[in-house]
Amino acid sequence: MTPEPLDCDPRIDGDISQLCEHLVTLSTSSRNDSAWPRKQLEMLQQADVYRWFIPKHLGGLEWGPVEIASAYVELASACLTTTFILTQRVAALSRICASDNIPLRDELLSGILEKNIHATVGISHLTTSRQHLRQPACLAIPKDDGYLVTGQSPWVTGACRATHLVVGAEIPDGRQILFAIPSDAPGITIPKGLNLLALTSSQTGPVKFENVFVDPSALLTKPAKQVLSVSGLTSTGSTQTSALALGLATAAVNFIERESLHRPDLTETAEALKAQQFALKDRLLKTASGITSSTNEELRTDMNSFVLRTTQASMAAAKGAGFVDGHPAGRWCREALFFLVWSCPQSVIQANLCELAGIE
Ligand SMILES: Cc1cc2nc3c(=O)[nH]c(=O)nc-3n(C[C@H](O)[C@H](O)[C@H](O)COP(=O)(O)OP(=O)(O)OC[C@H]3O[C@@H](n4cnc5c(N)ncnc54)[C@H](O)[C@@H]3O)c2cc1C
Repeated sequence: MTPEPLDCDPRIDGDISQLCEHLVTLSTSSRNDSAWPRKQLEMLQQADVYRWFIPKHLGGLEWGPVEIASAYVELASACLTTTFILTQRVAALSRICASDNIPLRDELLSGILEKNIHATVGISHLTTSRQHLRQPACLAIPKDDGYLVTGQSPWVTGACRATHLVVGAEIPDGRQILFAIPSDAPGITIPKGLNLLALTSSQTGPVKFENVFVDPSALLTKPAKQVLSVSGLTSTGSTQTSALALGLATAAVNFIERESLHRPDLTETAEALKAQQFALKDRLLKTASGITSSTNEELRTDMNSFVLRTTQASMAAAKGAGFVDGHPAGRWCREALFFLVWSCPQSVIQANLCELAGIE
């Protein structure tokens, strides 16, 4: 029997649509593509968004995965950059919440709730980045009871805006450590964020470590072979990454739908894409709730395809005007490419490459 579509928690619709309206206004009024979205992030804090991700027994609201996926779609359709920065802060926050180092967990968490600690995450070199290299990107040499860390975490979003970094490194015996450290600790250098094809204002770039001493009290968990899987949290290609792709696709589909109201030649396209958008949203929420046979990777593969197709369809609908700097269709097309590279497991990359190469 086919399961019924899921109904979202109604509280999402009211609170979030207001937040999204403000985000749209701020992102469309900003002329500077590389400015850190300070006001947007403050709005998320005021709306208590970080507490959605914190368990109740730690003082949070503990939203369920379906509510969170649905909220991410809405937020990403309003402003992808702000929502993306949120996901990286949440990645750090979730690892802090899951930590079995209770004194460290409680200290960081109270700072996050009191809004004087902002943590972000640099862990991709343990999963999807630099995996073909012989040397670990970040090496942790045991020293006294702690570690001396040297190397670089190649991709850290908003590092220069964070008070704390959650970072992974590899010990010579093959185990890995995961630690939380103040971003101004001796030996840490944070260069200016990279100029990116899109999302430059997320101020993403490498963080360099030179003999940075990591005290054992800074470890979020004991060293382990696959330290990121110890906490049971998904590290790449999660439903949350699919939710962001669907959010961006939704912005593009809504544009085509609006255009179709006075351009009958677009009606068929708008209807077809709208139907696919609903079907994918339903699949996303079912996957998030665990009641479907679709894996995270299958879902992400289809979301990547959808976000690329819809954003390019928005460009075709916008015609030459869409190709002029400042039109949202151009930004959406560039932002869609991000999903080919961000938090993308090898199986998803492979499936996307097959589609692009026309291989069945
Ligand atoms: C905008 C942005 C923001 C991000 N933010 C974060 C963040 O906040 N935190 C985080 O942890 N991660 C983050 N990531 C990392 C992301 O999730 C991926 O890990 C990253 O995009 C993988 O790309 P890479 O270039 O590092 O991959 P790599 O696999 O390291 O590839 C780099 C280059 O190496 C070469 N290469 C690759 N494979 C091979 C091979 N098998 N043989 C020979 N050469 C090879 C290719 O020339 C390739 O271009 C971010 C990424 C982006 C783009």
